[in-house]
Amino acid sequence: MRNIIGVEMDGDGIETAVLGFPRIGPDRELKTALESFWRGDATAAELEGVATALRRDQRDAAVAAGVDVLPSNDFSLYDHVLDAALLVDAVPERFAEDFEPGSLELMFAMARGGGEVAPLEMTKWFDTNYHYLVPEIGPRTGFAPRLAKPLAELADAPGSRPVLLGPVSFLSLAKGAAPGVRPLERLEPLLDAYQGVLEGLARAGATEVQIDEPCLAGDVDVDLLALIERSWDRLAGARSDLELALVTYFGGLGDALERVLRLPAAEFHLDLVRAPEQLGPALAAVGDEARLSLGVIDGRNVWRSDLDAIVRQVEPALARLGAGRVRLAPSCSLLHVPYSLERESRLDPELRSWLAFATEKLDELARLRAALAADGSEREALLAPSRRALEGRRRSARVTDPQTAARLAELPAPDRCDRAPASERARIQASRCELPALPTTTIGSLPQTAAIRDARRRLLTGELDRAGYERFLEAEIDAAILRQEQLGLDVLVHGEPERNDMVQYFAERLRGFAATEAGWVQSYGSRCVRPPILFGDVSRPEPISVRWWRYAQGLTERPVKAILTGPTTMMQWSFLRDDLPAEAIGAQLALAIGDEALDLERIGAAMIQIDEAAFREGLPLRRSERAGYLRRAVDNFRQTTARLGPATQVHLHMCYSEFGELAEEIARMDADVLSIEASRSGMDLLEPFAGYPNRIGPGVYDIHSPRIPSVREIEELLERAEGTIPRERLWVNPDCGLKTRRWEEVLPALENLVVAAHRRREAEPGGPAATRGRTSAG
Ligand code: GLN
Ligand code: ZN
Repeated sequence: MRNIIGVEMDGDGIETAVLGFPRIGPDRELKTALESFWRGDATAAELEGVATALRRDQRDAAVAAGVDVLPSNDFSLYDHVLDAALLVDAVPERFAEDFEPGSLELMFAMARGGGEVAPLEMTKWFDTNYHYLVPEIGPRTGFAPRLAKPLAELADAPGSRPVLLGPVSFLSLAKGAAPGVRPLERLEPLLDAYQGVLEGLARAGATEVQIDEPCLAGDVDVDLLALIERSWDRLAGARSDLELALVTYFGGLGDALERVLRLPAAEFHLDLVRAPEQLGPALAAVGDEARLSLGVIDGRNVWRSDLDAIVRQVEPALARLGAGRVRLAPSCSLLHVPYSLERESRLDPELRSWLAFATEKLDELARLRAALAADGSEREALLAPSRRALEGRRRSARVTDPQTAARLAELPAPDRCDRAPASERARIQASRCELPALPTTTIGSLPQTAAIRDARRRLLTGELDRAGYERFLEAEIDAAILRQEQLGLDVLVHGEPERNDMVQYFAERLRGFAATEAGWVQSYGSRCVRPPILFGDVSRPEPISVRWWRYAQGLTERPVKAILTGPTTMMQWSFLRDDLPAEAIGAQLALAIGDEALDLERIGAAMIQIDEAAFREGLPLRRSERAGYLRRAVDNFRQTTARLGPATQVHLHMCYSEFGELAEEIARMDADVLSIEASRSGMDLLEPFAGYPNRIGPGVYDIHSPRIPSVREIEELLERAEGTIPRERLWVNPDCGLKTRRWEEVLPALENLVVAAHRRREAEPGGPAATRGRTSAG
């Protein structure tokens, strides 16, 4: 039999495996199906039909590519961690009453809320941009196997390897739903349920099960390791006829490697892209029977592999273990990369030849296996295309821009980035723009209405020409400025109507980035993002936001704050080139974004806000790697702002709470005004900023909720804030941008925010809210 690359496949030899596929659909079919089901326009059977077809197409493609070990139960209608909770029946009590066990309604209520019942919380899946639903373990949570989903997927795909989220990772990702409940203490009853799951899978014909324990790529202490050992003792004993693969990814096992390799697993999967150094020690430590699954194709990035290098990397494993005990696989599930290059008709052909999305990674796997089985000229022929592509990429003028290299000399070194002393800047800035105490502002975006999305669409289809589109944007800005003036905000914004997304917008206008047409990657549930690809040296061919800021400032006497996206956030939400260290990429971005800031300063912008929304989420999984990341991220921010004069007020915005441990690093960024999310924590998270030397705007309006905060609530939040930060240093703003909210919510909320700030100005500093005890005006 020949596989799709036309290579003869023989029966024995090295096998290839895939740990998980993307699931949203090449054309986001699952998104469409989910949304019409939620609207009531499609039946459950129709939704399931779409899902079944997606799984079948995916499987057919993998079989055609010659993949030997195919996953099942890796698919999810919403989220695989939610599925894992449902698999063991870990359903919080608040859902039990209204929803049928095992029903779609229950699953979607847990995901999105149902009636009065709040959904599970959502947070990021390790260091990816995928978000999972946080399982809740309460005092009475019990576990029982519920096998319908994995059994149905196994029946659809006989011979596949069901994927389970491992019990220890599951509990590590869960939260205690009541004081004193520590999820990891529930391992024993959970293992009972997992044993039941394995039993059921074996009875249904599974011969292998993949157990993912990605928590092993984080900080693994002896306690966690003991729990892993305990779980494997029990799981491996469940069925002697079932082979279990222990799968780790997103990093190496570090010091835990040897103990992990002694576990009674039939196979160990190692991420050799993030942690190639663990292969040598693993070969020395692995027992006499277990297989190693070598994660050699990058499941987290979009670059074509260096197959020559992988061949060299894998050969010692083959020599030591023999082909029968080695499997080749992507480093992790392919969930985190787009489907296929086939859908990219507009990508520059040269750049395209350097890329591999999920489908192309399957071909690489096939080619790699074939090359390892061949030798001499046959092997050469198999490796040649990848070698040519890589050489082309290394030499391409598209990648290396000598001008960027030369201009980097203008960027101050990280230790030469001090601006004038903060107190001096504060004085100069105060006399430049006279602002009241507790100045009010917003974070940048205003509601992205259907009209805005429609204009953007018409521009793309050609129904609207560039000039017409720009006139449309100007009218949006006219309205935005007028509304903000009427609300009485002190510092205005232009509203960001020209930005589809804070990263994509700038990426599309910077050299060195490419955008895809259909490179969708699931973010959560039905939501997807299309991360730009950073492939070469960065530069800014022409000013980006300047035109819109100038237009907005021309409409008003009040200061309009300009808004830019910071280097770390640009990096965090893009696919990054793998041929340059993060420091160098960050410096190039600092130069380009700093150029934009300088232009804004030159035409009179008194305030420039740099958004670093992804600052916190970029923190590496292992503590030991965090200091390096933070140094880089802080340095790059300082490099972005270092060239600005003391009269330019630099604002820094970050979202998501719990900055506690980072307060020192954030202070080192030395922004004149820091705005952070705070409303949901009731200002508790201001505590670590008590000593923050500059000004700070803790969010007083939770923009993630449609709820409109009352004047009274906002006043009380401000009063609490004054308990930590003196009034002279406080600003008043929402938690984040308003683009996902509707004007009907935003107008009354901002009105209340302004009224609350006014009232607070009249109250005794640090004293109780002026309206305390009265009924709310909001
Ligand atoms: N300026 C952006 C906005 O207001 C910031 C978004 C963010 O921090 N996530 O939308
Ligand atoms: Zn934000």
